[in-house]
Amino acid sequence: MPTFDFDLFVIGGGSGGVRAARMAAQTGARVGLAEAADLGGTCVNVGCIPKKLYSYAAGYAESFEEAAGYGWKLPAEPQFDWSHLKSQRAKEISRLNGIYASLLKNSGVTLITGWAQLVDGHTVEIDGKRHTARHLLVATGGTPFVPEIPGREHIVTSDAMFDLDPFPKRLLVVGGGYIACEFASIFNGLGSKVTQLHRRAHLLTGFDDDVRQFLANEMGKAGVDVRLNCEASSIARGPDGLVVTLARGQQIEADTVLFATGRVPNTQGLGLEAAGVKLDESGAIAVDAHYRTSVPSIYAVGDVSTRVQLTPVALAEAMVVVDALFGKGKRRMDYEFIPTAVFTHPNIGTCGYTELDARAKFGEVTVFSSEFKSLRHTLSGRSERTFMKLVVDKKSDRVVGLHMVGADAGEVVQGFAVAMRAGATKAIFDSTIGIHPTGAEEFVTMREPMPG
Ligand SMILES: Cc1cc2nc3c(=O)[nH]c(=O)nc-3n(C[C@H](O)[C@H](O)[C@H](O)COP(=O)(O)OP(=O)(O)OC[C@H]3O[C@@H](n4cnc5c(N)ncnc54)[C@H](O)[C@@H]3O)c2cc1C
Repeated sequence: MPTFDFDLFVIGGGSGGVRAARMAAQTGARVGLAEAADLGGTCVNVGCIPKKLYSYAAGYAESFEEAAGYGWKLPAEPQFDWSHLKSQRAKEISRLNGIYASLLKNSGVTLITGWAQLVDGHTVEIDGKRHTARHLLVATGGTPFVPEIPGREHIVTSDAMFDLDPFPKRLLVVGGGYIACEFASIFNGLGSKVTQLHRRAHLLTGFDDDVRQFLANEMGKAGVDVRLNCEASSIARGPDGLVVTLARGQQIEADTVLFATGRVPNTQGLGLEAAGVKLDESGAIAVDAHYRTSVPSIYAVGDVSTRVQLTPVALAEAMVVVDALFGKGKRRMDYEFIPTAVFTHPNIGTCGYTELDARAKFGEVTVFSSEFKSLRHTLSGRSERTFMKLVVDKKSDRVVGLHMVGADAGEVVQGFAVAMRAGATKAIFDSTIGIHPTGAEEFVTMREPMPG
């Protein structure tokens, strides 16, 4: 039997990597982990966490405006201090980096700082030193993709948005995915004049069509200049800022141009080819249902293997690998009914199938939807509206799609996701007593199906 330095060596200390390393070490396995940058990966450093903190910051602008309707007299025009927000965020993120380091240390994981490369199916090299392991796990995540475009050197990606200096008075966001929409919404709330360009007819490909339209309308009402069927063809520096020329010739000036035009898996410089690890047609590491790559001793989870790019998914995939190698045994991850939120203003929360996908999968479906002004906005004077939609499989009566655009939609949908995974039918929704007065109660009181 060959002897190895480690039972498991993990490349990448982000969501998936840290979870796998920590949980494997807790079973008594000898585990090493290499991280080239800050612990916590995309989510902690330039993703979910700082994004949500900035979304909270943006939300205060709305609250200050709304307060007057509730009798609050604010002393003066509220002032926003971007530098203070940035330093508060940086402090919180380094606290989290520290927590990740102690979690790894306390579970006995050997942390090696540096860029790791695969040498073969059992060996990694970091700064010229080789380490061997019975199993290797690649959890190197993804990185923003920017298309080739004249003036590309002037643009920034989501990674740079949290530390912009100075604060962009005018922000142009290119892209229509959830990251583009979130940054457009957040910077609009923080006080930038935001224009969002998207080359398709609707934002948020993959989301329910009603949600896509409703959100674009609400973002527009909130002040984002959403321009659909619109493409940037070049960027240049002009006397008063960046000048973005659109495909149809029109020009827009901005202080910052964000390209949020997709993400690609981090597969470069990893030694994948040397080790014999194959990529799939999308450029991600190809894995089987147990996250095993084309090399049996090498596994890959999270964004580098591109199934569903979300932190809780990377964590769950990591647990499948740890259970198979060191724990309860082999099992498969179920990707159906994964709830997710988009932290635009208002938020989106969604679980299960869009109406279109449900019709394709289940045949006949019944659709219930509701649109209303929330109680909060009767006195706040805000014109924001809430949208909710249920998609029900006609045959089984099972609720197979649940979608919301409105305040705290992510918080609302998380609980419903449990019911949906348990197979809740529309009859069960109907027999559930609502919590009054909330927006969420609407999901258990929708009785009239949409025609057709
Ligand atoms: C702006 C933004 C907002 C997001 N918001 C959300 C959200 O609200 N909710 C949600 O669920 N998901 C969100 N995501 C997605 C989420 O961040 C990712 O799905 C998740 O971080 C993937 O985890 P991972 O372990 O695959 O990779 P990552 O967390 O990216 O970690 C990969 C790590 O590997 C390291 N690494 C790479 N190559 C090497 C190497 N050769 N040697 C050593 N280390 C290496 C990197 O430095 C990095 O730390 C967001 C992403 C972005 C960009």
